[in-house]
Amino acid sequence: MDKTDIEAIKAANPILDVLRDLGVPAQNNRIRCPRPEAHAHGDRSPSVTIWPDRGQFKCWVCADVKGDVIDLVRLARGCTFREALEYLGRNTFGTAPLPPLRAAAPAPQSASHASGSHSRSASKPVHASYLVFPESAEPNLLVQESLMPAGPAGEPHPGTASHPAPAPAPGTAATDAGLEDELLRHRILAALLAACPPVGGKVGRYLQKRRIFKRTWDRQQLRMIEDYAGVSRKLESAFGLADLERTGFFNAAGHLRYYRHKLLFPYLDMQGRAVYMQARAIETGTAGPDGPHVPKGARGPAPKELSMSGPIPLPYNCRLLNGEPGQIYLCEGVIDTLTLIEQGFPAVGVPGAANFKPAWAELFRSKSVHVAFDPDVPGESGAAKTIERLQAHGIEARRLAPPAGMDLNDWFRKG
Ligand SMILES: [Zn+2]
Repeated sequence: MDKTDIEAIKAANPILDVLRDLGVPAQNNRIRCPRPEAHAHGDRSPSVTIWPDRGQFKCWVCADVKGDVIDLVRLARGCTFREALEYLGRNTFGTAPLPPLRAAAPAPQSASHASGSHSRSASKPVHASYLVFPESAEPNLLVQESLMPAGPAGEPHPGTASHPAPAPAPGTAATDAGLEDELLRHRILAALLAACPPVGGKVGRYLQKRRIFKRTWDRQQLRMIEDYAGVSRKLESAFGLADLERTGFFNAAGHLRYYRHKLLFPYLDMQGRAVYMQARAIETGTAGPDGPHVPKGARGPAPKELSMSGPIPLPYNCRLLNGEPGQIYLCEGVIDTLTLIEQGFPAVGVPGAANFKPAWAELFRSKSVHVAFDPDVPGESGAAKTIERLQAHGIEARRLAPPAGMDLNDWFRKG
């Protein structure tokens, strides 16, 4: 089965028909979430939006419940990607011959965005302190027991309370191998975070200097690598070097990559589960590390931040993207995001100015977005692109820029 067959199966299975076949007909293009246990009252008021014209769906609560008809079948029946294809193929081939492939359609205009203001352009920057915000909700527990390393029998699968595979971004072809890798990365990440204590000591002082305090460390579930050798050993005995190297947690020399980068920022999904991570070096000097676990090449100057390998599934602090109307600040980098969160602003982040993914625009639905990237060349160009992408989805977006030569953290520290 190649990509063309997959596209043909999708084209032959309108999402509303598939929903009827699955016994969950949509009402006003809404259905209850296939993962009702993740919702209050079993998702009594349906949280999943269907876009019939582009054959996609998305739950506004569960970040990973979204995608195309294949993802829908996978989630609704708790089956694999391949089984979902077989199910759809059977439906298709049992009733009618495959229709010709659809020509690539222009980006559809979703009815749900009709009320957005396309025309509102990036106007004058607004000083952030004009606005006052509520505190964000407490996250759930970061590390669930079901996420811990398990044998083959413990492999989590969709539909259980354990960690689900995130649905692929709309429009991308998923593969079983890709999903398995993603699951493995999440399990390793959970184990790494579970092996690391909350921030304190020197790492805490580093954050305090940037006006980011304990309440925010706790709320964002920041961790630090205190016992590098011990954490390395735990991961190695749970997962084995081959998988740790393949997923990019260990380098090719067999060492955990986060030697200098001791400060860990987990990216939590809507349920508070870690799906991605960035790590930060808290010392910029070049003094060589000591001890027997020194990774080769660690003695040169290191980049300040090190991202986990694999796709970035969601913006940082994405639980604020809940579909409720309101202001949101979009920051460049986790430190800036935390700076605003500490000041009581509803802020989410992207790892770099160029990292805003087109598929994320939907997440900002009904928000009014202040794009607070750095006032430098990459920041300005990233901000312009991001604003354009958001506005193309009918989402209000404008530039919020600190004075030239300052990033947000400087601005707030001096302000
Ligand atoms: Zn849901």
